[in-house]
Amino acid sequence: MNLYELTATELSKKLASKDCSAVEATKSVFDRIEEVEGKVEAYLAVTKEEALNKAKEVDEKRAKGEALSPIAGVPIGIKDNICTKGVLTTCASKMLYSFVPPYNATVIDKLCSQDMVMTGKLNMDEFAMGSSCENSYFKKTKNPHNLSCVPGGSSGGSAAAVAAGEVFLSLGSDTGGSIRMPASYCGIVGLKPTYGSVSRYGLVAFASSLDQIGPFGRCVEDVAMLYSAICGRDENDATSVICKYPRFTANCTDIRGLRIGLPKEYFGEGVDAEVKKAVTAAVSELEKAGAVVKQISLPSTDNALSAYYIISSAEASSNLARFDGVKYGYRTESFDGLIDMYEKTRSEGFGDEVKRRIMLGTFVLSSGYYDAYYKKAKLFQKRISLEFEEAFKGCDIIITPTAPDTAFKLGEKVSDPVKMYASDICTVTVNIAGLPAISVPCGKDSKGLPVGMQIIGAKFTEQKLFDVASFYEALTGGPQKVVHVPV
Ligand code: GLN
Repeated sequence: MNLYELTATELSKKLASKDCSAVEATKSVFDRIEEVEGKVEAYLAVTKEEALNKAKEVDEKRAKGEALSPIAGVPIGIKDNICTKGVLTTCASKMLYSFVPPYNATVIDKLCSQDMVMTGKLNMDEFAMGSSCENSYFKKTKNPHNLSCVPGGSSGGSAAAVAAGEVFLSLGSDTGGSIRMPASYCGIVGLKPTYGSVSRYGLVAFASSLDQIGPFGRCVEDVAMLYSAICGRDENDATSVICKYPRFTANCTDIRGLRIGLPKEYFGEGVDAEVKKAVTAAVSELEKAGAVVKQISLPSTDNALSAYYIISSAEASSNLARFDGVKYGYRTESFDGLIDMYEKTRSEGFGDEVKRRIMLGTFVLSSGYYDAYYKKAKLFQKRISLEFEEAFKGCDIIITPTAPDTAFKLGEKVSDPVKMYASDICTVTVNIAGLPAISVPCGKDSKGLPVGMQIIGAKFTEQKLFDVASFYEALTGGPQKVVHVPV
């Protein structure tokens, strides 16, 4: 067995018992990158030399008997919208093609202080806007399960790299589903944490009231390990909160009495029959193990997509105003005055989807339409949050499909934005209500493509999500194996 095939927690244990070294593990990952990256195209930048130097340093610390974090020496990849000091951070946009941040995001500082070995920066939809990773200015990442399919988005590179064994763990960001949806399409585990539980400082903002950074892994325990390493209060992010758990676990063996709610709106029209079947079968397994399942209703779900695209675009139009050719990134070559420079820079620097969101956001915030769209969407946000609160009085967790379908073909939806937006139907409500949710693989469809089950919890119940997800995972064969990529 190659080292890159281990789960991150298995590797962590081997490193601790000196059964292998961080340098060996890092080399194994880079050999794998060499082998399959030409096909998968998950990385925008690879930091091999720095990674090997860091791995060597970790091995030396261990040899001296220093107490190290469980993630010390474990190779981790980072989505390219998370600022990494001295390492290109492009958000997969021409606008930031040359941007090298002078500082680290808080999550990076946290991971560095725990001796992470960073393998590089991972591909994504431009500024995290998209559901297929096809909006990247630089390249199109492929789904390792079927190279003619998308990996999902926007954190497609982060999910594909983990699934293909090109890294043990990765970080993504989730504004409307960008961690859970690619996790589902690539057959791995992904967590969107409670809003406020992970610092957003140094995450390039898309929609600040919805964005959260979160982990990907090939098993629930890996995701719990990385989440433990990044969560908590940060002075630089006023919305972040103290984490009460010293370390999250993923070894639950008893779910008797667990109350599961199944919202009927997530199993209706628009959800693929095979996806429904796989998720329903997974729920039956949990029921057999002693969980109590009941049907519930979240009636506002029907309007969730509209509200999400109004709120997220409004915030994006404001957040992206800073890219003006003056402070950083791309600037047009020739211009006639300041306004012309702004216009040309932004026209040339942003891709179509980003421009669409900026226009939509500016429109819904404009004085004539503010009440009709933005204000209504904010009222809706309150309503959906209350509906979830009410639902959690009668159940401990809510289960839905993560996505209405499985990975679709590259090119299939790019020319139809509304179709693309519809892929987020099962995930956006969670962001709107600020809740945590995890996506775990629950079988495959008839084309051999993975199906994801979404487990949603009340705020700050990540431990419960890990419990249920790990219980289900153990019941169904344990961690996901690295996907065989035809080369
Ligand atoms: N697909 C959604 C969008 O395009 C979600 C993106 C995200 O979570 N970053 O907005």
